Amino acid sequence: MNKTEKYNISQFQKAMSDAGIKNIKYNCSTAKLTSIAAGGRCLCYAVAGSREKLKKIINICLVNKIKIVIIGGGTNILFNDGNLNLVLVKLGEEFNYLRLGDSNELQVGAAYSLSKFVSKTVKSGFDFSFLAGIPGTFGGSVLGNSGSNKQGICQYVKKVKCILIKNNSLVEEDINVTSNEFGYRFFSIPNLLVLTDIVLSAERSDKKIILEKIKSRIKDKKMIQPTNTKNAGCFFKNPEGSLKSAGEMIEECGLKGFAYGGARVSERHSNFIENFKKACAEDIIVLAKIVKSKVKERFNINLEYEVRIIGF
Ligand SMILES: Cc1cc2nc3c(=O)[nH]c(=O)nc-3n(C[C@H](O)[C@H](O)[C@H](O)COP(=O)(O)OP(=O)(O)OC[C@H]3O[C@@H](n4cnc5c(N)ncnc54)[C@H](O)[C@@H]3O)c2cc1C
Repeated sequence: MNKTEKYNISQFQKAMSDAGIKNIKYNCSTAKLTSIAAGGRCLCYAVAGSREKLKKIINICLVNKIKIVIIGGGTNILFNDGNLNLVLVKLGEEFNYLRLGDSNELQVGAAYSLSKFVSKTVKSGFDFSFLAGIPGTFGGSVLGNSGSNKQGICQYVKKVKCILIKNNSLVEEDINVTSNEFGYRFFSIPNLLVLTDIVLSAERSDKKIILEKIKSRIKDKKMIQPTNTKNAGCFFKNPEGSLKSAGEMIEECGLKGFAYGGARVSERHSNFIENFKKACAEDIIVLAKIVKSKVKERFNINLEYEVRIIGF
């Protein structure tokens, strides 16, 4: 780190303290914030309990030219090892809500838990069973258009409130979402930094049937996925247009259970990379690259990461 960076950091710390940002940890381990439990240290980790605090943190980072990354449940993200020159921000209390009225509209804060969303909305007859058993926050799930192969959450999203960065300035916008903004495992709005609030619309149906679907999906997930190991969900996207899933191709390359350092391809589901023995991020990414090259060699397909990799 050079002198200018040090000066900026102390200036940054003073600005955060002057702004009354209290939920903050400097030199924080990213491994502790992610389900794959690997990665280095970020400059700071802050919880923005309110919209006002969130905007203050962003503006301080903009002035000090420090990169911000928003983190939800940390269940689909991998940070690099070492010291990462970035500020991690988690949305707090003001963004942790679910509002249901008599209409078919649902309003959700980006910090709301996805599993709570599934279990609360079924009481009002909404069928989000395709999300059952997926960990993380609502914001993170919209960002990756989470779901099963056929369904994604974004199909139900009508409007989002977000913070964009335009010309190095913070802009708040309400955006009507159309099918142009999302696809298989992605949601994309130019210049988006933070998704704060989401409005969805869905039809209601029979609660008993939905509950049965939720139970069966969770049972299936536990059977086929390594739900109790340290991982970040499916590591690779299923290639579009291919008859085989990423997991099937990886398995056919003979990589099931293959390990590199403390990382291995799951025995239960070949599209999951597990941190089974104190893996560092490099172990995981080297293993992912081996998997990619073997799949390319055998199937001539370039697998893309589903997991968001940051700082590499
Ligand atoms: C065991 C297991 C099983 C899983 N099964 C599935 C599955 O069946 N289907 C599926 O789709 N996924 C699955 N996942 C992946 C993951 O749970 C989902 O993608 C989840 O919705 C991610 O939410 P998160 O809050 O943890 O996001 P994070 O991992 O915290 O973040 C993911 C990305 O979104 C960004 N982000 C998060 N919140 C915001 C926000 N508010 N504003 C702007 N950017 C934001 C982050 O910067 C990052 O780039 C699984 C994961 C695990 C560990």
